[in-house]
Amino acid sequence: CGIVGYIGKQRASAILLEGLKRLEYRGYDSAGVALLDDSGIEVMKKTGRVENVATIVNRRNSTAQIGISHTRWATHGGVTDANAHPHLSWDGRISIVHNGVIENHDALRRFLKGEGIEFVSQTDTEVLANLIAYHYARESLEGEGATRLIAAVRHSLRLIEGTYGIAVICTELPKDIVGARKGSPLCLGIGNGENLLASDVAAFVGRTQNVVYLDDGQICHLTADDFSITTVNEAEESVDPVISQIDW
Ligand code: GLU
Repeated sequence: CGIVGYIGKQRASAILLEGLKRLEYRGYDSAGVALLDDSGIEVMKKTGRVENVATIVNRRNSTAQIGISHTRWATHGGVTDANAHPHLSWDGRISIVHNGVIENHDALRRFLKGEGIEFVSQTDTEVLANLIAYHYARESLEGEGATRLIAAVRHSLRLIEGTYGIAVICTELPKDIVGARKGSPLCLGIGNGENLLASDVAAFVGRTQNVVYLDDGQICHLTADDFSITTVNEAEESVDPVISQIDW
């Protein structure tokens, strides 16, 4: 339902929680945050109000400067802590948040289970988390660093039927967030030494007025100081971003 991602020089947790609260008006049943620092990805998620997970996140007091977060409105799998987002891939390398519905999740889950991958939730989203990690780990995938993650995301999205707005982080890439959309809104908030990603510009209030709306079939890559957009399709064209100014 709601997505917020942050990369920059501030503590990510406070900014993500504030963003989630600004998206609460859309309705949801669970909320969660994934933070990435030197010790890896830590996921905290809970059914109920953003306040429930905020208590856990604040107690943790992480200094992480990158993270993704989500408010869920369940479509596949009951309202449980395990089904809340973010989801972590079976190998612990990839974490994603997702809005929308993956229609061919059953077939993809069967394929991944056949490859020996275990699932811990009932969601369609965990299938995408594991699919991206599966491709990221494959020797035949070319590229290193963020290029490799973008290639794994692109490859996985070509196998997906359905709708998505996603944000992805990877334990090995503490300076990168990857996002993509098809049929579910996603926009970039361009800041000064920091960048944000969200399903709704309301999440950017008080941080930046500069917004780039992602179109269907596009992948974005954010670092603290830069961003770029390319297409999901085989052409992998780079897209010239249009920055709009939001007047709150
Ligand atoms: N289909 C996903 C789920 O049920 C995402 C729901 C949403 O858009 O919040 O977990």
